[in-house]
Amino acid sequence: MKNFESANLQSLLEEVAIGARSVIGRGKVADYIPALARISPDKFGMVVCGVDGSEFAIGEADETFSIQSLSKVFALILALETVGPNTLWKRVGREPSGSAFNSLVLLESERGLPRNPFINAGAIVVTDSITAHSVSPILQLMGLVRRLAGNQKIYLDENVAQSEAEHGHRNAAIAHLLKSQGNLEAVVEDVLAAYYRQCAIAMTCRDLARSFLPLANGGTHPLSGEKVMTPLRVKRINSLLLTCGLYDGVGNFAFRVGIPAKSGVGGGIIGVIPGKYSICVWSPELDQTGNSLAGTRALELFSRKTRLSIF
Ligand code: GLN
Repeated sequence: MKNFESANLQSLLEEVAIGARSVIGRGKVADYIPALARISPDKFGMVVCGVDGSEFAIGEADETFSIQSLSKVFALILALETVGPNTLWKRVGREPSGSAFNSLVLLESERGLPRNPFINAGAIVVTDSITAHSVSPILQLMGLVRRLAGNQKIYLDENVAQSEAEHGHRNAAIAHLLKSQGNLEAVVEDVLAAYYRQCAIAMTCRDLARSFLPLANGGTHPLSGEKVMTPLRVKRINSLLLTCGLYDGVGNFAFRVGIPAKSGVGGGIIGVIPGKYSICVWSPELDQTGNSLAGTRALELFSRKTRLSIF
């Protein structure tokens, strides 16, 4: 082990897990997607991947869960590759929204330009930009995710996708509003189907931490050597994670943790410490902003104990 942090990381993760688990019971598993409500609330897993190839895990690190909004980062990477930044950034903004992930309010007042790619409205536009240029957007996305994670077995849980489609009235409302405002190219139903399916990808903490390594390593995947994106794109995506990755909980998260990150209502949070680590934590109970309660606590403890943050 080369430095203080990694030498002590395994025992440090054990302390982090104990501290994080102590808040389980104070949150609520997402139940607006019925298939997610069935998950046991006391799960906890965490994986830290180093850009030097090191890996540390604790708890249910190899159990799959629904990545939900974590998929918005993969979709953004694919959309930037597919249509390019100039086209995409004309259709999606880069400001925090200060409102819930599935809010419709700003969309109406800002005439169909979603605030950022990580709220649902922005993510639906991102998915649309892929859908409009691909015969099988979801296969393309799965290809990217499997490649980044180095795991061809990553699958899509059709039950979760179906469950969300049956209860996806807010997302349908967002998509129809976007269409009426001229910011949706593909057929509404096709975009929604692709969006629900990307959210229903099932991955483990280990898969996710590995797949985010390029964002911690200037765009090159340290495990495969693949140049996934340019350093400029890494800077931009990490900046968006810091300012928009946790919806209207983002300011408090930055205050407590100080690490660019993205959350999903499946209880996953994935964070990036540039030049050092990607970290994924999973615990299904959410706080009022829809972010994992124990996951946030775990990352807060991690950044405090290691003194690692971007500041
Ligand atoms: N599939 C979820 C939704 O659209 C994703 C939201 C999330 O993870 N924050 O509501």
